[in-house]
Amino acid sequence: MTGLIVDSDEHRAIRESVAKIAARYGHRYFASRGREGRQIDELWSELGAAGFLGVHLPVAYGGGGAGLSEYVVVLEELAAHGIPLLLAVVGPAICGSIVLAYGSEELKQAWLPGLASGERRMCFAITEPDAGSNSHMVSTTARTDGEGWRLSGAKYYISGADEAEAVLVVARDGERLDDGRYPLSLFVAPLAAPGVRLEPIETELVSPERQFTLTFDDVRLEPETLIGERGKGLRQVFAGLNPERICAAALSNGMGRYALDRASRYANERAVWSTPIGAHQGVAHPLAEAYIGVELARLATVRAADLHDTGGNAAEAANIAKFAAADASLKALDQAIQTHGGNGLSREYGLADLWFVARLLRTAPVSREMVLNFVAEHALGLPHSY
Ligand SMILES: Cc1cc2nc3c(=O)[nH]c(=O)nc-3n(C[C@H](O)[C@H](O)[C@H](O)COP(=O)(O)OP(=O)(O)OC[C@H]3O[C@@H](n4cnc5c(N)ncnc54)[C@H](O)[C@@H]3O)c2cc1C
Repeated sequence: MTGLIVDSDEHRAIRESVAKIAARYGHRYFASRGREGRQIDELWSELGAAGFLGVHLPVAYGGGGAGLSEYVVVLEELAAHGIPLLLAVVGPAICGSIVLAYGSEELKQAWLPGLASGERRMCFAITEPDAGSNSHMVSTTARTDGEGWRLSGAKYYISGADEAEAVLVVARDGERLDDGRYPLSLFVAPLAAPGVRLEPIETELVSPERQFTLTFDDVRLEPETLIGERGKGLRQVFAGLNPERICAAALSNGMGRYALDRASRYANERAVWSTPIGAHQGVAHPLAEAYIGVELARLATVRAADLHDTGGNAAEAANIAKFAAADASLKALDQAIQTHGGNGLSREYGLADLWFVARLLRTAPVSREMVLNFVAEHALGLPHSY
């Protein structure tokens, strides 16, 4: 498959190097670690040591000095080998981007080199039981105690909290404003601090990252844990949200490629009548259609990453890419499963276990309805409905 994306020499070099590492681990490694509830420390360390986890971060902070476009190549290629790493979106992409854009020099020095090398991990917490899609209404509260803050509240569906040293947490910090919203602040809260409790949430995802409810019970936060300006958290968090969406799209695109690669190989080999099943248009056309969807989503993702890297407004492009990629990868995976007949559901063929990871990306990090809300309002000028 050649596809619509023409890699630059630099992108081709990254893709080939990541592919070499990913091929040594493979989807079986990813799935078995997911089933066993074990982490992927060896792979993570190897990606960090090779410079891939921080390829988009500045050289001055231990990164590769490239952009999100290059990180997209890394994530897509891993996922195209059946290794869609959610944690690589959370730590290096969301937290790394926010700390880089707004963190103090001290926070940048403390965190970015470790995020880039893979030696330190940070998770991200905005979602709350009573304030999911509506981030304006987070009720986790940071109360200043003169020097620092005391943090209380709960966050849920926090990926990888057991693997991380700290959490980038979005908290209410002050009285209600005239527009009915609350000022928000961002903190890098240590997860080992007294008063932090982690409770696993059981999900059906076959993925090494686990999900947690995090409870903060009067957790002391030192002044230097504040990111950027107090009360400006909502604006600041946006520095991480476009990268999050673009990277989530890269995971979906990679999974779409993985599924279609498996399906086309199988359809060429499996013959139940006189020809390989791929000769039947009932098998070939849905795969071709799924391929077109994945390639269009890849184009949208490359465009969004490029807009982000060149300082353009990437919000619409990032939302479109994320939406298109999530739908395209699900369609590709479903068709790959169908192409495999009964084998599509077997463990051996490594497709069905990806279903919930691919499905997740329709809901998180931003749901398809919230993307449609954004596009309706900002691209089409329709009224805000909620
Ligand atoms: C496996 C997993 C990992 C996650 N990891 C993280 C993480 O690391 N950190 C983190 O902070 N969060 C994380 N999340 C949370 C995720 O971002 C949210 O689940 C997602 O944003 C949706 O929020 P919600 O679940 O509260 O749904 P709700 O906000 O309750 O929405 C429920 C449904 O209603 C729809 N809806 C809500 N409001 C509107 C509206 N105005 N118009 C139209 N439809 C609407 C939604 O689209 C959705 O379909 C994770 C979730 C999962 C499942």
